[in-house]
Amino acid sequence: MGQKAHKHISSRSVNRLQKFFRSLELTQTRCVHCLRPFSPSENACGPGGLSAPLCPDCTALFVPYAGSRCPRCGLPLALPTARDTVCPNCLRQAPPWDSIGYFSLYDGVWRDVLLRLKYAGELSLAPLLGACLQEAAHCLPRPDALVPVPRHPLHLRKRGFNQAHELAKYLHILCGVPLRPELLCRPCPHTPQAGLSAAERRRNISNAFQTTRDAQGLRLWIIDDVMTTGATLTAAALTLRKAGAQKICALFVARTPHF
Ligand SMILES: [Zn+2]
Ligand SMILES: [Zn+2]
Repeated sequence: MGQKAHKHISSRSVNRLQKFFRSLELTQTRCVHCLRPFSPSENACGPGGLSAPLCPDCTALFVPYAGSRCPRCGLPLALPTARDTVCPNCLRQAPPWDSIGYFSLYDGVWRDVLLRLKYAGELSLAPLLGACLQEAAHCLPRPDALVPVPRHPLHLRKRGFNQAHELAKYLHILCGVPLRPELLCRPCPHTPQAGLSAAERRRNISNAFQTTRDAQGLRLWIIDDVMTTGATLTAAALTLRKAGAQKICALFVARTPHF
């Protein structure tokens, strides 16, 4: 019946329908940042050369951090001469991961979109941020699996999603590395990290994670949205390290400029 009806649609009707859809601007897409409609042909290239759903105006705002940083924890370094110098914190105690990657500092438009993803549930931003993770990881050794940082159970109950998992999903689509969220779980109800000092965060998060499957011998990228003090990523990395992970990389979209 449906096929018969299709045969009776003339090419003139098809042309008329196409014209109608064009008049509705259905060929346009909406910028995920400013929400303005724009034609995809206007913007083939997003931040860091990424193909991204951003209008040309917003593309100019989403630039990666290109300054000096500590190679162990990613902390931005004030002096240009200090490029790739290990910071005092890491000289005192090195982080438990082998390498680190992030796209930008946590300020300006980056803070805006990451807050919108996390607190307003704007999951339409996840493909853009997943693409940023891919760009941030371009010089890291390819892993066996992606492990998103599990969220606090209260957070999951309230928001219904884990932003780290959403980003890892898109990174998996882009790079094809298996997504293994079951390697890390967070069974204990702890106080959420937001609003705590650095020392309080470290105390609060230690022993928060468990491995549910053996990570023995695996090379892993731990995925998160933002690194603030690094306490959450440190606890997650230590748990996977104890479970026998061979190589661990901390990968996230943005880093706060200070501890
Ligand atoms: Zn825009
Ligand atoms: Zn450092």
